[in-house]
Amino acid sequence: MIAFGPVPSRRLGRSLGINNIPPKICTYSCVYCQLGRTLRMQADRRAFYEPEEVARVVADKIARTREAGESIDYLTFVPDGEPTLDVHLGREIELLRPLGLPTAVISNSSLIWRQDVRTDLLAADWVSLKVDAVDEEMWRRINRPHGSLELSSILEGVVAFAREYTGELVTETMLVTGINDGESHLKALAGFLACLQPDRTYLSIPTRPPAEPWAQAPDERAVNRAYHILKEDVEQVEYLIGYEGNAFAFTGDVEQDLLSITSVHPMREDAVSDYLARADAGWAAVQRLVAEGQLVEARHLGHTFYLRKLKVPGRRAKVLTKKG
Ligand code: SF4
Repeated sequence: MIAFGPVPSRRLGRSLGINNIPPKICTYSCVYCQLGRTLRMQADRRAFYEPEEVARVVADKIARTREAGESIDYLTFVPDGEPTLDVHLGREIELLRPLGLPTAVISNSSLIWRQDVRTDLLAADWVSLKVDAVDEEMWRRINRPHGSLELSSILEGVVAFAREYTGELVTETMLVTGINDGESHLKALAGFLACLQPDRTYLSIPTRPPAEPWAQAPDERAVNRAYHILKEDVEQVEYLIGYEGNAFAFTGDVEQDLLSITSVHPMREDAVSDYLARADAGWAAVQRLVAEGQLVEARHLGHTFYLRKLKVPGRRAKVLTKKG
């Protein structure tokens, strides 16, 4: 399922997602990842799909979305893993250009030390770079990177990209209590982010079921303190902690929509309810997908979420359903 949504995005409005990586291949295995633990750690770029196939599927999804009367603000590469692992990313962005919608890429920054990755990202209209930690030990604890990666090269790559990029550059930092939310680290992080002069710096917390149940969000006071520390050095700092809303689009096939969205973006129960109402469908399809083991239910912060089950027997469901 290369294209999904559109899904509501707190930063991009209505975002048609492009899933250019098979589940779940990533350079990181972040403790807070909403997709569960990484199934395949990889740091070499490779081809996953033909770029023409990606462009064709996205064009088709746009047509069906518009036929259903739904709008799209961005085409966003936000896959089941790290989008820059795809060696065809630049070509895909180029092929999507004639479709007339801006393109966005949400990257974890881990491969940005590579010139070819920076060149690919330069073609996008909007790029989000993850910077959770500027301290080696914290970075290893929170992002659990592939063994071949080095934080110093990544940070240098982020600086080089920020100097060259002319589109909208945002950064994102996920705060996890007890790891990267200490005052001295936040001051160092603020100094680094200030050098980038991003259009916006987002501060987020885990709002969906995390890969590791112990990866908790700091309390409100700690998040507020982090905001003020960053604000001392960085011009535009914004919270990214509110719920994104329930405006998930129906594009003609309930099961396909639910499976493609939840493989990348766990949906809250009330969002599924709203979606089903929009599709004029009942809960039978959801119940069937749960019974077949294609969807799993997980509890997080008092809400029930539905997410696509990854193809590793038991692991993801077991980890996530521990959370209450
Ligand atoms: S949060 Fe993003 S970078 Fe981290 S493991 Fe999940 S997909 Fe990879």
